[in-house]
Amino acid sequence: MASSSSSRPPPRGATGLLLRGIAGSPGVAVGPALVVGDVRTTYIRRHITAVQADGEMARIKRAVDDAKASLKEVSASVPAIQETSAILDAYFVMLGDPLLLARVEKKIRQEKKCAEWAVAAASEDIVQLFLPGNPKDAYLIERRHDIEFVCDRLLRALVGEDRPTVPQLDEPTVLVARDLSPADTAGLVKEPVIALVTEVGTRTSHTAIMARALELPAVVGVADVLRQVRTGDTVIVDGLRGEIIVNPGEDAVNEALARSARHMAFARGLLVARNRPCVTRCGVPIGLKANVELPSEAMLAMDHGAEGIGLYRTEFVFIDRATLPSEEEQYEMFRAVMDVVGSKPVTLRTFDIGGDKFVSSFQLPAEMNPALGLRAVRLALSRPDVFLTQLRAMVRASAHGDLRIMIPMVASIQELREVRRLLHVAIDQVSAAGQAHATHIPLGIMVEVPSAVVLADLFAREAEFFSLGTNDLIQYSLAIDRTNRSLAPLASSFHPAILRMVQSVAAAGRVQGIPVAVCGAMASDPLSAVLLVGLGLRELSMEAAAIPEIKETIRRVTLQECEWAAEAALACDTADAVEELVAGRFAPTLYDLLTGETYTLTPTEPPPWSPEDSA
Ligand code: PEP
Ligand code: MG
Repeated sequence: MASSSSSRPPPRGATGLLLRGIAGSPGVAVGPALVVGDVRTTYIRRHITAVQADGEMARIKRAVDDAKASLKEVSASVPAIQETSAILDAYFVMLGDPLLLARVEKKIRQEKKCAEWAVAAASEDIVQLFLPGNPKDAYLIERRHDIEFVCDRLLRALVGEDRPTVPQLDEPTVLVARDLSPADTAGLVKEPVIALVTEVGTRTSHTAIMARALELPAVVGVADVLRQVRTGDTVIVDGLRGEIIVNPGEDAVNEALARSARHMAFARGLLVARNRPCVTRCGVPIGLKANVELPSEAMLAMDHGAEGIGLYRTEFVFIDRATLPSEEEQYEMFRAVMDVVGSKPVTLRTFDIGGDKFVSSFQLPAEMNPALGLRAVRLALSRPDVFLTQLRAMVRASAHGDLRIMIPMVASIQELREVRRLLHVAIDQVSAAGQAHATHIPLGIMVEVPSAVVLADLFAREAEFFSLGTNDLIQYSLAIDRTNRSLAPLASSFHPAILRMVQSVAAAGRVQGIPVAVCGAMASDPLSAVLLVGLGLRELSMEAAAIPEIKETIRRVTLQECEWAAEAALACDTADAVEELVAGRFAPTLYDLLTGETYTLTPTEPPPWSPEDSA
């Protein structure tokens, strides 16, 4: 359903119109745009009588089956791409979600609404449930989009309009849309689409995740793009810089094509290297593990060369549902991950709910300051029934491999002791039920609250490992709300206070001989990773997609270089000074990893970095 915009776009110069968005998927592409309109399904709002209610419920049931069948068809057409299948599977489950169906039934039976109206009204209600959270929180925004997509799928099935948003294409095309459903994006594998641009979305939106899986350059969150681009316009999509140029000049097109070639060379190089050992140039091994939220991500992590799971955020099984997950359900999920990972270690973090991670099934009271409220281990200890259920599931999963348990947001030694006591209770209960478990399950803590840093020497005597959660550590020590986008530039992992904290925690771990890892986003930035190794870290855990890049970074530097950089960085007084220092020192070695482009110099070409940088 191609459409051109009715309102006139502003005039463009010879160099084209530059629009900025968010870099959703790396790569650069140039091609003609196809603008896909916002296809919301239309329906008639009809009141029904009580006797018609059963009939409307039967229509809902058929629509759920039809929508599932059509999703299955799309899923089958997407060959073995783990992320796309995982997302489509999640949608499949959401289509049968009891919370959604119960609301739809209430709208039909009590409010006497026809099936279409009931689905639309239920969708609005559920979206409202997510609103008490931070309205700008990317995770919550995406979950609201998920509900809308699933309900739209149901509506389309009800009105018999279950056709794809994207028409068949006959030439390489840049697709421009308000948003794309995962089903639409997955359907693109069969079409000659070369890049995606959407008006909404963030780096974690499904369009971005699926574009990365399909290796299509994408820029998401481009405000007003539907008004600014017309079908047929030539568009440069720069998924590295997060910008597009509409009707660019010849020079810009040539530059974009050259960057595209350099990015492809870069991506090819990483792909080839991903299974090589992760050692520094001088041979020091650094363990790279993956952070996962869903069991289905474990396979992807292994495929990217992860040496295990360094952080499994188990709270995700509590989200998007009306009831708490059972022990059996959690056990099956943990076991699924253990099965994929085999003998490699898996670190399960006990649920970190509260703060910005809103979960309806817990009925948490609204808090003035949720990041400092009833969250993570505090919440777990206040609900020992729910916590023990999770601990038993973890203990049972320990029978299937190398499992460790990690506690989030620990601020005092009593919390660690209390969790250890409950873990022993859980082990006794599992044993009493005649169920298998490992003879020893290491219990460690996330170091992400400043008090845990200050007391790291004491914690190191009782915890069996540490993992630095730099996302929260930065939030709490620099007093910067991690969901506040306008303050994001201040929340720098190069801040000297953060570097000193990392150094002191690594030292405390060394003294007691316990492993210390980093699982915050700091670990997935090449320059920060170099500093972390220099500060004494030997294990980093990150999103699977970042592993090949960080592995390559580590393979190019020596331990001595990392230690020199860390020492010089510790002597700096500002985050900017640290960043300038490490960028200057490592830009020549890591240029392609920092820009996403492989650069081969021609004899007449000056290097893109300053020669003094490498001094
Ligand atoms: C962190 O805080 O750095 C972390 C890894 O945990 P989360 O992002 O889940 O709070
Ligand atoms: Mg955290």
